[in-house]
Formats: sequence, C-alpha cells, structure tokens
Amino acid sequence: MKIIDILNKKTMSLSFEVFPAKKESGLESVHKATREIASCRPSFMSVTYGAGGGTSKYTLDIARDIKEAYGIPMLAHLTCVSSDRATVRQRISDMKEAGIENVMALRGDLTPELEASDPATWDYRHAVELVRELKESGADFCIGAACYPEVHPDSRNQKEDIFYLKEKVDAGAQFLTTQMVFDNNLFYNFLYKLREAGVTVPVLPGIMPITNARQVERAIKLSGSFIPQRFKSIVDYFGTDPDAMMQAGIAYATDQIIDLYANGITNVHVYSMNKPQVAKAIMNNLSAVLGKDFGR
Ligand code: FAD
Repeated sequence: MKIIDILNKKTMSLSFEVFPAKKESGLESVHKATREIASCRPSFMSVTYGAGGGTSKYTLDIARDIKEAYGIPMLAHLTCVSSDRATVRQRISDMKEAGIENVMALRGDLTPELEASDPATWDYRHAVELVRELKESGADFCIGAACYPEVHPDSRNQKEDIFYLKEKVDAGAQFLTTQMVFDNNLFYNFLYKLREAGVTVPVLPGIMPITNARQVERAIKLSGSFIPQRFKSIVDYFGTDPDAMMQAGIAYATDQIIDLYANGITNVHVYSMNKPQVAKAIMNNLSAVLGKDFGR
C-alpha cells in the first residue's frame, strides 16, 4: 500500500520508525524488536538506512519481513551522498524487486571524508537528485523526504531551507517527515510557513520519546533540536530513576501526540528506536484517542 493513500485519509495515522542491525550479530535481536513493534499494528513503519549505506541489505530485509509477516505498509529509507550512481541505481532496483512501494529519499549526513573532498566529484549532492532518480527509475514509488522545523544546519536561513524543500516536493516527494521536535509550537509555525510557501503535501511531525537521561544529550547532538524547559525539568527530576524516566518520557511524547491530533494534525510519526515497550505504551495510551477506524 502507498503511504500517501494512508496520509490522505481523514482518519488519524500513527507510524513507527525502526533501524537495521549494524552487524550480522545483531540481526536476530533487531528482527525480534521490529516484529514486536509491528504487532502494535501502526499505520506504517519506516526502516532507516545506515549512514554510508553499509546496512542497506538489512534495511530491505526488515522491510520485507514486516510486510510479509504483518501486512504493514513499509517505508524504506535510502541515502545518496556517500554512494555513486551505479550503487544507488542497484539499491533502487533491489527495492523494486523486494516489492517496496514507499521510499524515503535522503541525502545522508556528510562524513569527514566527504567534507574533505571536492563536491564536483560526488555523484549526488542533494536529496532532490535522488527524488529525480527514483522518479526516472520507472517504478511507481511513493516518495517521502525529510524536513527541518528548526532549519537544517547546512542552511543559511529558513527561507533558503524551505526554498530547497519545495524543490524536493516539486520533483516528486509526496510527503515530508520532520526532524524530531519536542515543542509542538515549532512544528505549527513551520507548517504555517510551508503552506505560505506553497508546500501543500502532508507533513508528519517526528516525535521522539526520550526514555533515559543520556538520550537527551544524544538527541540534541544529533538533531540540534530545542528542548523545552518543561522537558528539561522532567529529566532533572526523574533522570536518575530509569523506570520513572521511561514512564515520564512516554507520557511527554503521548501528550505531544494528543496535542497534535487535537490541533488537526492527523498523521504523526514516532521515532520508536527499536523499543517495543515504548511503541506498546504509546499505542496503549492512545487506544481511545485513535478510535476504531485507526489503521484500517
Ligand atoms: P537535502 O534535502 O539535500 O538538504 C540538505 C541541505 O542542503 C539543507 O540545508 C538544504 O536546504 C540544502 N539543499 C537541498 N537542496 C539543495 C540544492 N539543490 N542546492 C543547494 N542546497 C540545497 N540519515 C541517514 O543516514 N539515514 C536515514 O535513514 C535517515 N533518515 C532520516 C529521516 C528523517 C525524517 C530525517 C529528518 C532525517 C534523516 N536522516 C537520515 C538524516 C539526513 O540524512 C540528514 O539530516 C542530512 O544531513 C540531510 O538530508 P536531507 O535528505 O534532508 O538533505
């Protein structure tokens, strides 16, 4: 099933993100965790693509496994900047063969080696080129792309970032998922600016349930996201008690999701990070909110 068809329904959607194993030795535990998350029956699941593309096979394996075992629509991520054109074309062909219908087209982060090299030698510089490559592949993929309510760190300003975001949408991205946001107002303001700029596709806020104190530092380092004082207080108070922090982090994320739905944002994406207990608790917290028609 195409994800755009789920997003365009009037009913609410909730999706979960998982990541592949980094090494062969981690395959079994990742498959177990992703299957448990799938058993919560989210509207769809996304599988990330390891930086540099080293785990591409595992991304496809998980996507295929969940789709076949649970019939859940899958979104496979793909990055381009650290790959050459032949490799990217091979990945696209593998996806087609695996029956993947939905692809998240990403640039990927710049590695220190890439940054030290001449961009003129790269086959891809921006995600928009991957969107075009996917469109030209002849497969009828539903394509998603990334966006940044707090501005991508490579951008000079938000206006420029949104200009290039629109280019991705005009090239064929049918929906957008945001970098993690901990303050819904940042998302609402961003959405307003996107609509003003003529970006009309569905935009999914990305919600990251923070369930331990160390994760906060990692999340800020990775995403540069703003952490509201309200959330900092939770970490200050409960951060040293793992069970209390887990419960408080899930409650905070649940609260964000309910606020989004209550403000007419029908599609929400959760960075569930291979944690079945987090996915289950969120689903449970929202059982009545999502209603009977959810995910059908
Ligand atoms: P782009 O869209 O190429 O944007 C990157 C920067 O370039 C921005 O500043 C943009 O404004 C600018 N830009 C874009 N087009 C142009 C242009 N034509 N000319 C000049 N400037 C331009 N990384 C992974 O490795 N694997 C994953 O699975 C993964 N999943 C992600 C999922 C989501 C929802 C998000 C938000 C990020 C994800 N990332 C992932 C991280 C992502 O790869 C990085 O944030 C990366 O630095 C940018 O990727 P992008 O696709 O947004 O790039």
